[in-house]
Amino acid sequence: MTRLSMHEQLPLDEEAARSSISTGELPEPSEVIVAVTEAYERFRANREGAVADYIPVLAEASPDWFGISVVGARGRSFEIGDVERTFSIQSVSKPFVFALVCEAVGDVDARRLLGVNSTGFPFDSLVAVELNLDRTMNPLVNAGAIAATSLVPGSTAEDKWDRVREGLSRFAGRELSFNERVYASESATNLRNQGIAHLLQSYGRLYFDPDEATDVYTRQCSLDVTVHDLAVMASTLANGGVNPVTGEAVVGPGVCRRVLAVMATAGLYELSGDWLYEVGVPGKSGVSGGIVTVAPGKGGLATFSPPLDVAGNSVRGQLVTKYLAERLGLNLFASVTVSKG
Ligand code: GLN
Repeated sequence: MTRLSMHEQLPLDEEAARSSISTGELPEPSEVIVAVTEAYERFRANREGAVADYIPVLAEASPDWFGISVVGARGRSFEIGDVERTFSIQSVSKPFVFALVCEAVGDVDARRLLGVNSTGFPFDSLVAVELNLDRTMNPLVNAGAIAATSLVPGSTAEDKWDRVREGLSRFAGRELSFNERVYASESATNLRNQGIAHLLQSYGRLYFDPDEATDVYTRQCSLDVTVHDLAVMASTLANGGVNPVTGEAVVGPGVCRRVLAVMATAGLYELSGDWLYEVGVPGKSGVSGGIVTVAPGKGGLATFSPPLDVAGNSVRGQLVTKYLAERLGLNLFASVTVSKG
């Protein structure tokens, strides 16, 4: 129950950090093509998991839909399967909205106002809010995500929503459209999330009107994307905040590394530790079946497959990501023994 803020006092020399980056390159395009095709064929027949139905429109998804996209930090891409199909972004919006907020308020305030630790609880947990004195612990679970959305610049909900939609579209490199049906279908979810927002407000941990902030949050979850869009968005975070396809600077490099940090701590909710242990790359999942992973300096990987495990993470997406993290050398914790010179 104690507040752990000592790390705020740790100095961080951004200039020094900028000159020593511990990343490499993706393998040659031909190798990427072979590995992605193999991953697709290998996990296509997997029948585990269940399509989310707590948001009624999502239950219409076919368990067979399956797509993979890799976009390198230089903008080269390879994709396979259902790559044209659009689906609502859901929680995969959270790291990108956090990125916009971090850019707007600065990383020091973003951490102070939202938190960056893991919750160890499901994404929609109220218990996590009650048990932690800081109330929101991470912008990638609903409580912290709604608080993040409440911090998006703009004096009205409409301003904030415009900013979110424009910002996420810049990450994707094209104008993302809003799915009215998904939004309408989230009315019960929206009500539950309003409960979280009111609780946060009572603790002084929300920065805008609770119902309006929740509405903008529900809208952001209802933006339609393809698996290719998600990979471009992820690749932007892998490329110091510059969209590798459009060349546009969306956020700064200092923001990107903070976003990846919160993805590592809570991107796959209460299973984030397992994810890092197995896959070793920051990731973010959403209940429509999308998962993005960001290999800093190398590129973004996105998968789309609606059947989910009990924590709400796409089953095929996790399998593909683990396979490709190995095959493409994405695991940040992997090393090989160097020979003594
Ligand atoms: N809109 C959904 C919700 O708030 C998003 C959840 C998710 O993708 N994990 O419940």
